Amino acid sequence: MSMSTSPSPPLFIIGPCALESIEQVKPVVEVAKRHGLSYFRANLFKPRTSPHSFQGLGKEGLPVIDYLLDSGMKLVCEACSLEQLEIVQTYASIVQIGARNMQNFELLKGIGAAIDFSTSRQMVMLKRGFSANIQEWLSSADYLQRFGVPRDRIVLCERGSRHWAAPYGMTLDLALAWKVRRETDYRVIVDPSHGTRESSLVLPMAGAAQAMGFDGLMLEVHPNPLESLSDPQQAIRPKALDDFLSQPFFHGEKVDDLGDSPSNHS
Ligand code: PEP
Ligand code: MN
Repeated sequence: MSMSTSPSPPLFIIGPCALESIEQVKPVVEVAKRHGLSYFRANLFKPRTSPHSFQGLGKEGLPVIDYLLDSGMKLVCEACSLEQLEIVQTYASIVQIGARNMQNFELLKGIGAAIDFSTSRQMVMLKRGFSANIQEWLSSADYLQRFGVPRDRIVLCERGSRHWAAPYGMTLDLALAWKVRRETDYRVIVDPSHGTRESSLVLPMAGAAQAMGFDGLMLEVHPNPLESLSDPQQAIRPKALDDFLSQPFFHGEKVDDLGDSPSNHS
């Protein structure tokens, strides 16, 4: 493992768990613009534990995607299958591989084939499976590279582990993630939303990750958290995000030179 070379600028991703409507994302876009942020999570497809839960708008959400792109946002979107990847890679600046798919090896192998990284500056965010150890996480990143994703286009995201003692069954593992951040040259960002599953814990843990010097954060934001169609208990309000970003210690992404938009949306 080579030592980290402190990549910059930090990557700060905000947005709802699942896309619902333009009304839902508009107040979050306003906060993003006020603070010079541009990476927006915008998931059309949602892997849900229960088949009875909201599964995402699917292609019906594409007008919301257009609204976000027209607003100058760069999209971070999850693909759960090779079929979804075909759609997602046409508009996502960062393709997200979720915790449940960290070891979906066929999906990992398919990314290098679906995106031409010699002409596109898109990136891939690999979330840690909630029971995966460091070696398994890094091996999944190796899969991406072995099948065509350049190493510097991979971002690792810590999203918590199952823990019997945690109030909502997940605990954010900043120590594990910091070890990876310190001992590899990968960018490592932190998702305290899924890592705590409780909105009142999200910003304190975001502040902790920020203070430690991680390469970024991903936060779930919704104008009416309790009405969110997915993960309502962990979403924070745009106002809370605005206040967080206004704190003097915040040093999130201000310079827009990370991943690029897919060519058909540039
Ligand atoms: C998400 O970020 O939308 C998500 C589903 O998270 P995870 O894969 O970490 O559960
Ligand atoms: Mn979520």
